[in-house]
Amino acid sequence: MEILKVTPRGYCYGVVDAITLAKRVASDPNVPRPIYVLGQIVHNRHVVNQLEALGIITLDGTVRIQLLDQVPSGATVIFTAHGVSPAVKEAALRRGLHVYDATCPDVTRTHDLIQEKIAQGRFVLYIGTPGHPEPEGAMGEAPTDRIALVASRAEAAEIAVPDGMPIAVMTQTTLSQWDTRAIIDVIRERFPAAEIYNEICMATQSRQEAAVKAAAEVDLVIVVGDRRSNNSNRLVEVVQVVGEKRAIRVESAEDLNPEWFHQVSKVAVTSGSSTPTEITRAVIKQIGEWATVTNHTKSMPPL
Ligand code: SF4
Repeated sequence: MEILKVTPRGYCYGVVDAITLAKRVASDPNVPRPIYVLGQIVHNRHVVNQLEALGIITLDGTVRIQLLDQVPSGATVIFTAHGVSPAVKEAALRRGLHVYDATCPDVTRTHDLIQEKIAQGRFVLYIGTPGHPEPEGAMGEAPTDRIALVASRAEAAEIAVPDGMPIAVMTQTTLSQWDTRAIIDVIRERFPAAEIYNEICMATQSRQEAAVKAAAEVDLVIVVGDRRSNNSNRLVEVVQVVGEKRAIRVESAEDLNPEWFHQVSKVAVTSGSSTPTEITRAVIKQIGEWATVTNHTKSMPPL
């Protein structure tokens, strides 16, 4: 069995910067303790555990304004790569918390764009995943009666917008470009004059395109990523829907099942942009050991 290591895969610059910032804050003795992160710094439990070992407390949950209530006065709080709403920033400053902001510049760009379009008098349709922190933060940039979340083609077909108001459409950074295109098509049909802004980031796009390309060459694609990682789940989806190949997500080498590789002559391995390199490396190593065994014995290893 041959293994194809998909490139690019794994950490993007936004994730690297966020983790670096958190580690720098943890190592600075002048930063007031305790130190909290508002939500998972990136959606990967291995990373969260690493930060916990450095004394950083992760407050888990998606409604960040509520999480902020758990941070005691005088403490330090880190905002995650997903970005937070202006209301959360204001509340943190009002309470005198020490704030470090790890928001990815690509997310900040979408926040700025929402503000700009609202100032121009437009209604914003934001295509995103319900319950994910990124839409929560981005949508907080607009008054609630000027923005709506759209998660599917069905919602796009039905969503109500104020009569006569011009529309701007934008997207979460970590969506599947193919899904998003289908939703945008529905919106375009209903509102031909809508301004469309594809905000899927380059890191997400390049990983998806590489995964689809790899799918054409292999029998199976293994995606390494946390179950809560939006971009990892989208990688599985694009391989299945666009690449028309089998794709399985694992969080670590322990999740692998040798039976998956029966009659597989070539397997591709990729990982989401929040997956640590060493976790992906361990997955490749484990599959590699089975590949060698398979080549020599023509049988799968025991479970
Ligand atoms: S996936 Fe894109 S938006 Fe998210 S942190 Fe990485 S570069 Fe930034």
